[in-house]
Amino acid sequence: MKTDALNKITANLGKTDKMPALFLGHGSPMNAIEENEFVAGFRQVAQDIPKPQAILCISAHWETRGTQVTAMENPTTIHDFGGFPPELFAVQYPAPGSPELAKLTQSIVQKADVHLDDKWGLDHGAWSVIKHMYPDADVPVVQMSLDYYQSPQYHYELAKELASLRERGVLIIGSGNMVHNLRKVSWAHLNDEYAHDWALEAMNKMREFILKDDHQSLINYSAQGAAYNLAIPSPEHYLPLLYTLALKDDKDELSLFNDKHLAGALTMTSVKLQAT
Ligand code: ZN
Repeated sequence: MKTDALNKITANLGKTDKMPALFLGHGSPMNAIEENEFVAGFRQVAQDIPKPQAILCISAHWETRGTQVTAMENPTTIHDFGGFPPELFAVQYPAPGSPELAKLTQSIVQKADVHLDDKWGLDHGAWSVIKHMYPDADVPVVQMSLDYYQSPQYHYELAKELASLRERGVLIIGSGNMVHNLRKVSWAHLNDEYAHDWALEAMNKMREFILKDDHQSLINYSAQGAAYNLAIPSPEHYLPLLYTLALKDDKDELSLFNDKHLAGALTMTSVKLQAT
């Protein structure tokens, strides 16, 4: 894209100090309306970082063929779940979109032919966590989909192409869960820190890989054995982690928060990257 066209697109997304990047373990949709230590963690992280000019969220709950970004002015709040109380379906998160950020994302990504979407909106992977961070819904939010035809390595490399957005005031959020196996959830331990043995084993290994920047082992998660296979029965909740870690450079300090097991088969462990 020609520079003048790019400058026009980014009139509101000027050069800034490098924004942090986050991976948020979103857990149950009920976190949207409950008060607990995890939502307190989401609030706290928003207070600890500069307020972004816009958010680009890669949510576990938007899988498509090819890569899409939401490009509408006013994304709707999507209630993409069933079996929850009416209060949850009543939640609206009226953050504006940012066609500008959507087009900028389209222009900087070389690996994929990014499609501008006008049909999705904000799914609960985005709004159930962002509403705690920015309750006034005053930060524009764009979502980027996960292409379910692509490998973890592909997602990691695509994510690296997003790095320059951090210097334009954009907060990139991967939203998923590192350990996420709903079939193995222990209903007797729904709200406590109980963990199945395999969940402990997988999370300990993931934590170790994350803290020593061993991204290749995290990308090759399917070769990590039985505990990993149970922790990641399908990739969509795990891949957003790779999007966040791919943005890490030498100047970033990595920290974990909400680092807890839940209900046997989930972890809420979240990651913050912040330039030192
Ligand atoms: Zn989810």
